[in-house]
Amino acid sequence: MERKRVFSGIQPTGESLHLGNYLGAVVGMLELQEEHDCVFAVVDYHAITVKYDPSQLPDRVLNVAIDYLAAGVDPERSILMVQSDVHEHVELSWILGCLTTVSKLRQLPTYKDKVARHGVAGLGLLSYPVLMAADILLYKAELVPVGKDQLPHIEFTREVARAFNRTFAPLFPEPQAHLTSGAVVPSLLGQGAMAKSVPGSYIALTDEPRVIASKLAGAVTDSARQRLRDAGEPTHCNVYALHRLYTPAEQLSEIATGCRRATIGCLDCKAILAREIGENLASFRERRRELAADPEYVRDVLCDGAERARPIAQATMAEVKEVMGLLRQ
Ligand code: SF4
Repeated sequence: MERKRVFSGIQPTGESLHLGNYLGAVVGMLELQEEHDCVFAVVDYHAITVKYDPSQLPDRVLNVAIDYLAAGVDPERSILMVQSDVHEHVELSWILGCLTTVSKLRQLPTYKDKVARHGVAGLGLLSYPVLMAADILLYKAELVPVGKDQLPHIEFTREVARAFNRTFAPLFPEPQAHLTSGAVVPSLLGQGAMAKSVPGSYIALTDEPRVIASKLAGAVTDSARQRLRDAGEPTHCNVYALHRLYTPAEQLSEIATGCRRATIGCLDCKAILAREIGENLASFRERRRELAADPEYVRDVLCDGAERARPIAQATMAEVKEVMGLLRQ
């Protein structure tokens, strides 16, 4: 049976991956790399759509690659590369942009969020979803491991693929999102999901156990639990939502009962969670330390990844150009 192709990209924004990235996308990548042909990319062209420091970008790219590898991406089985090393991403993005209306791009929720946050409305920020669609379609990926917040972009990619197929020739599959059980990882601030852009909302994969404990100590809980003797409702609490992702079933049920009967306090509840998360991330931290001490190995992996990605990208672009009348004899 032919193996399906998977694409996933993470931006080099400067911070380490957090639990939301990990459970929302990286776990999905690891599940998929066993049975599929995967292309995982550090999408650096996406990172330049807002203000950034050029002197820091190379290290940021390297750090995301280290995170990928430490989390379990296997460079023997999967392609791990940097987006700007394969120029066809931008070439296809231009072509797909010609099939996209500005009004459609303005409607996408992430554009509005980013303009509100960064106060700029550059063309790169507006056409960011087109580049994302190009990233996926360039490899004819059929599955994309993502968090729920990215679903509008996958739907947009499907629309662009349909528009291209209808206008020129049926070249592109319509990719599906691959959601994991932890696809929405709640923020420590009580509302929304963990986000790098929201300080205090997330736990980074590199956080040491004492940092995890201190971040969780400040996490918002069920507002009904003002005093120790006040009963709470765990399903109203993001700390409990995180327990569901990390704590074994038997202890989880004890915590839920303890919260409802006020026999466990929030501080103890958070300390249990901090221990579970800390232990879960121990092997990641160790592997990350080893990789960070050997940056040449990581650079070699990225070079090799680009070498393997280019022929796939070039083959797609040759087909695209042929059906669009862009190849001359
Ligand atoms: Fe949340 Fe735990 Fe406090 Fe209940 S006991 S409100 S689940 S932190």
